[in-house]
Amino acid sequence: MESVQAEYKGSYSKVDDCPDPGLPEMAFIGRSNVGKSSLVNAICLQKNLAYISSNPGKTQSINFYLLNEVLYLVDLPGYGYARVSRTQRSAWEKMVRGYLEQRTSLFCVFQLVDASIPPQQADLDFTNWLGEQGLPVTLVFTKTDKRKKDKAAGAQAYLKKLSEFWEQLPPHLSTSSTTGAGVDVLRRYMQELLPV
Ligand code: GDP
Repeated sequence: MESVQAEYKGSYSKVDDCPDPGLPEMAFIGRSNVGKSSLVNAICLQKNLAYISSNPGKTQSINFYLLNEVLYLVDLPGYGYARVSRTQRSAWEKMVRGYLEQRTSLFCVFQLVDASIPPQQADLDFTNWLGEQGLPVTLVFTKTDKRKKDKAAGAQAYLKKLSEFWEQLPPHLSTSSTTGAGVDVLRRYMQELLPV
């Protein structure tokens, strides 16, 4: 994807309401504040695309963006918010698990992991859950430009932790939305996942 034409296609709170499956879908998910909106904007070469439905207070939803008319980038609601009620958590689970378990057109789940902090249990649990479900996961490390305050931070530390559970590690890429590093590699990776 040398040039990207991205079009917002709507926000859905129920899997059943999502657009008819047809085009390949690539889902993006991560802990809150991982840099997902910034990365979606960077991939799409737009400044504010991914903020459309992320206003605080707005119900979390599954956001669809059509890229170059050939694939859907699906922005899934994040996990790990500090203050969520049990009801909100179970609504998230229902929505996200429902989407991940049911979508037949799902080609890849990009799990974003903040490379500027030490491995987080919530991230490890989610990667492991994706693995257990047999879902095609690719890890995307974010904020690689950021100076690590903690020696235990970084992509390698995360992968080392993960290797306690995984015989063969999932594919992984590193990005920075701030400098743009790795974003074109990610775009190419997405392109190569598409059927020819
Ligand atoms: P989201 O909550 O996952 O959508 O995260 P945002 O994209 O809103 O980013 C959360 C915070 O991290 C914001 O303050 C961003 O400016 C910052 N951020 C996002 N990506 C990067 C990056 O690549 N490098 C650095 N240094 N900061 C980033």
